[in-house]
Amino acid sequence: MDDRQFRTAMGKFATGVTVITTEHDGEVHGMTANAFMSVSLDPKLIVISIKENARMLPKIQESKTFSVNILSDQQEKVSMRFAGQLKDESYEVAFEKLDNQPVIKDALAQITCELAAEHVEGDHTLFIGRVTDINLNEGNPLLFFNGRYSQIAQTVEA
Ligand code: FAD
Repeated sequence: MDDRQFRTAMGKFATGVTVITTEHDGEVHGMTANAFMSVSLDPKLIVISIKENARMLPKIQESKTFSVNILSDQQEKVSMRFAGQLKDESYEVAFEKLDNQPVIKDALAQITCELAAEHVEGDHTLFIGRVTDINLNEGNPLLFFNGRYSQIAQTVEA
């Protein structure tokens, strides 16, 4: 089995798209991620997976907090911005604050977390976040499937 086959198989799993944000030394850093899932209801825990060479990795280790922003289908450019895929570096992203943490304006869900645990697994680190606050907004999700952005075909009521 080669890397391409593994990547192709993983790309068959349709996901939403998030931007992880954190603030350290007064600077906000964002990174697009789809390796996100809910872990536990009591206590409320989530997990994200960050590759070993991402600039985001040491920033979360230092700040000990991060937010997960679930993007709407109007925010494809935001995803591209935080994945380093946007040529137009002047594209501005609006942040706001929730629980004193930076979150992406108009994201479908803004979820703030305290770092609860981290586990190095292969070339990624799993960060477990204890959820401290949540804010919800209306809209439909941005999707990622087969290595491409997509949208659901019909409007879904919240
Ligand atoms: P950089 O590459 O330096 O930053 C990312 C981009 O965000 C840069 O263009 C930077 O200019 C911009 N940026 C950062 N902060 C700000 C700010 N405050 N204001 C404006 N712009 C800012 N990688 C993973 O490790 N795990 C995943 O689950 C994952 N899922 C992905 C899902 C999708 C759909 C895509 C497209 C990519 C995914 N990636 C994932 C890859 C990851 O998003 C990129 O490799 C990313 O560039 C790594 O970010 P970085 O922290 O190394 O920082």
